[in-house]
Amino acid sequence: MGEQDPGGGRKTAKATKKAPGGAAPGGGKEAVKKGVGTKKAAGGKKAAAAKKATAKKVTAKKAIAKKPVVAPAKASAAVKGASTVRTVGAKPSTALVRRARRINRELAEVYPYAHPELDFDNSFQLLVATVLSAQTTDLRVNQTTPALFAKYPTPEDLAGANPEEVEEILRPCGFFRAKTKSVMGLSKALVENHGGEVPGRLEELVKLPGVGRKTAFVVLGNAFGRPGITVDTHFQRLVRRWQWTEQTDPDKIEAEVAALFPKSDWTDLSHHVIWHGRRICHARKPACGACPIAPLCPAYGEGETDPEKAKKLLKYEKGGLPGQRLKPPQAYLDAGGKPAPPLGAG
Ligand code: SF4
Repeated sequence: MGEQDPGGGRKTAKATKKAPGGAAPGGGKEAVKKGVGTKKAAGGKKAAAAKKATAKKVTAKKAIAKKPVVAPAKASAAVKGASTVRTVGAKPSTALVRRARRINRELAEVYPYAHPELDFDNSFQLLVATVLSAQTTDLRVNQTTPALFAKYPTPEDLAGANPEEVEEILRPCGFFRAKTKSVMGLSKALVENHGGEVPGRLEELVKLPGVGRKTAFVVLGNAFGRPGITVDTHFQRLVRRWQWTEQTDPDKIEAEVAALFPKSDWTDLSHHVIWHGRRICHARKPACGACPIAPLCPAYGEGETDPEKAKKLLKYEKGGLPGQRLKPPQAYLDAGGKPAPPLGAG
């Protein structure tokens, strides 16, 4: 449990020293230290206790990796007890960096098949699908875009389309008039300013009509392999629950979270966090009792803690249900994930 310590080893050691009775609530490390330090005075007894504590720590670590459903009320209390919240603009503490990276590592084990949940075959399709995904689900977009891209496969085709026909196709996505304007507008800009190609640079992407940083990072990260953090509604909610940042402005959230991770982790990190938000850590009722990272979460208990009730809240493949993509990557199917049904089929 020592590695679940949100305040880092040093902080735990200090707090533990002061704790009455010398118990080490979150600290296998402290127990080991104590065992070594008192070796002469207490002999083998203390050393044995230290060994036991270390063994416990290893067992707990294995349990998280192998068994994704846990309800660790005590561990979460320990996380809650140690504040690692940054003041605005301050450099993140080592403890916060460690805890954040640990959460991302655990999430990588929970969602090894995480991927963008929009179906796309090229950067143009991903750009259009991302713009369409505003205020609706990726599932609904995936059910809509096959007809759109079959009729208008290139920016030239979509730029020269009859708006009313595009509106009809986009109707299931909601806000279909505004979305038609956006995707036709950005297609025109691609044709006029970029030779019909999607630019691979942030500065150029955000100049396209209807394209903000969030959309640009989705495209850069997933169509161009350039690292980016996607701050959507799930990402905002989860990183605040985990106390990675106190910011509410997406650009500031992006900057503060970016400072916790190496650039090479940014795209996968975004997938992990968003997938967790969609499947387990919901806005209204997070499934805490079925959450594999509960031991690391300062917000454990905000949602349902009863394991059986929490299990019923799980979505997509975690709840045994189809995913959002009609054409998911093979890794997802290999892990037991199911493709989403086409429009009108369910
Ligand atoms: S479901 Fe969310 S709030 Fe609950 S323990 Fe998991 S990450 Fe924390």
